[in-house]
Amino acid sequence: MKKYTGKSVYKGIAMGPLSVLKKTDDQVKRSKIEDPEAEIVRVTDAIGASKAQLQKLYDKALKEVGEANAAIFEVHQMMLEDDDYLDAIHNMIRTENVNGEYAVAVTGDNFSEMFANMDDDYMKARSADVKDISNRLIRNLNGSADADMGSDVPSIIVADDLSPSETVQMDKSKILAFVTVHGSTNSHTAILARMMNIPALIGVPMNLDELSNGMLAVVDGFKSEVTFEPDEAMQTETEKRIKEEREKLELLQNLKGQENRTLDGKTINIYANIGSVGDVGYVLENDAGGIGLFRSEFLYLGRDNFPTEEEQYQAYRQVLQNMAGKKVIIRTLDLGADKQVDYFNLGNEENPAMGYRAIRICLTRTEIFKTQLRALLRASASGNLAIMYPMITSVDEVKKIYEIVDEVRAELDEAQVAYQMPEQGIMIETPAAVMVSDELAQLVDFFSIGTNDLTQYTLAIDRQNEKLDSFYNPHHKAILRMIKMVVDSAHAAGKWAGICGELGADLELTKEFLQMGIDELSVAPSMVLRLRQRVREMKVFE
Ligand code: PEP
Ligand code: MG
Repeated sequence: MKKYTGKSVYKGIAMGPLSVLKKTDDQVKRSKIEDPEAEIVRVTDAIGASKAQLQKLYDKALKEVGEANAAIFEVHQMMLEDDDYLDAIHNMIRTENVNGEYAVAVTGDNFSEMFANMDDDYMKARSADVKDISNRLIRNLNGSADADMGSDVPSIIVADDLSPSETVQMDKSKILAFVTVHGSTNSHTAILARMMNIPALIGVPMNLDELSNGMLAVVDGFKSEVTFEPDEAMQTETEKRIKEEREKLELLQNLKGQENRTLDGKTINIYANIGSVGDVGYVLENDAGGIGLFRSEFLYLGRDNFPTEEEQYQAYRQVLQNMAGKKVIIRTLDLGADKQVDYFNLGNEENPAMGYRAIRICLTRTEIFKTQLRALLRASASGNLAIMYPMITSVDEVKKIYEIVDEVRAELDEAQVAYQMPEQGIMIETPAAVMVSDELAQLVDFFSIGTNDLTQYTLAIDRQNEKLDSFYNPHHKAILRMIKMVVDSAHAAGKWAGICGELGADLELTKEFLQMGIDELSVAPSMVLRLRQRVREMKVFE
């Protein structure tokens, strides 16, 4: 039995087998080998194993997401048969007497760079595929292959760190908990864990080499502890606590269908945040009044090429239809910073959180933005849609957005495509937007305060930097005063204001938010009923 303490990002408790995700990129070491021909046989065997895994993935994807989306696994299988790629690996092993892992890693990097430098967009996008197949091959060579981004049995994922794109690819029904060595409490991976109702610990000083797939573990998000190989007593105790937790959650179910009304009669909208079409189930299960933030950029993550207008349209339409007339606020893509996608070719930046991201990409690469806007407007006929723009700093940006929206509308009118113009709002997540919120309020229909970024930019604290977690204080007076200022600006112009950052779910602040006059709180689906409970047992003015 071995116990470690980390930082909890979702309070829950889970017990089950481990699935250890080892990153291969930075683990490949060069070593000298004696027998190059034997090494080549090892590589050939690993290629066979990789192809078999890809076939399985193809079959699974074919059933779940259709032929067009499954095709990528066929492409990967074909790449593993490419003569140039294989010759380069074999030559390197023979001429330099190096291990297979190293030869595959170097060849993968070379080919990937070659593709990235091609003019043709399709070929450029293959750069990420070469990396992907090379990593798979390396995993098969060094024996860490069975952790194929989440295993078949429900398990506890342990990893060094998880990026948002890795997390979105996982089959969420198979994840009992996340435990990572690194990561910050405000990262999008932490947000995803909260969204999925999954106990999660980060900053756990464990050694992945001492852990193996299938090993039993207990993750306790209340005590911020993970225990590997728990003894029988702990297993029994954990089973009891899991049952108690389940019962508490069941009690909350009684609040479904109830109003979000305080004892002294003040009401507030409680909405939910989502990242994918599949999350709508959690929203409905938890009886949220609407969707206050659909992080649409997750549609762009974990894939090799831009989602088409049609794919986006189908996704938005499905969310709107499933929400059956309840409000759905879709945020236009907020990529960049920690949400990186190779095919956008955003390039490396010294300071990505303050870099080329979100609306800045949309206002400069307008074709990408227009594709999304077209899909959104087309979907508007299917329900109660509102659009929200992220990372706004000025009135000018909003005016430029409206010009682009007008162009898209003109194109749709020309093509006689029907749409209903949705409400348009902005996220208030930069201090600049707060300071000009009176002017912005004249232009938009609503504000939604993104406290995660607002805290980062106001306190000058990188939300991704785990060393700064203890300094990241969203209860700082500066943040609370800003929120009040934004609400006042909105109300003075007859508009509404909500919070969609993680702070909205902070039960210690619910009363203060209601006193400020916040109209809506949009939180992880798992927090909706807890927040309703808090609202219903308080008086705003005592
Ligand atoms: C925020 O910044 O508070 C927010 C809701 O957006 P994201 O966390 O996706 O940056
Ligand atoms: Mg943000």
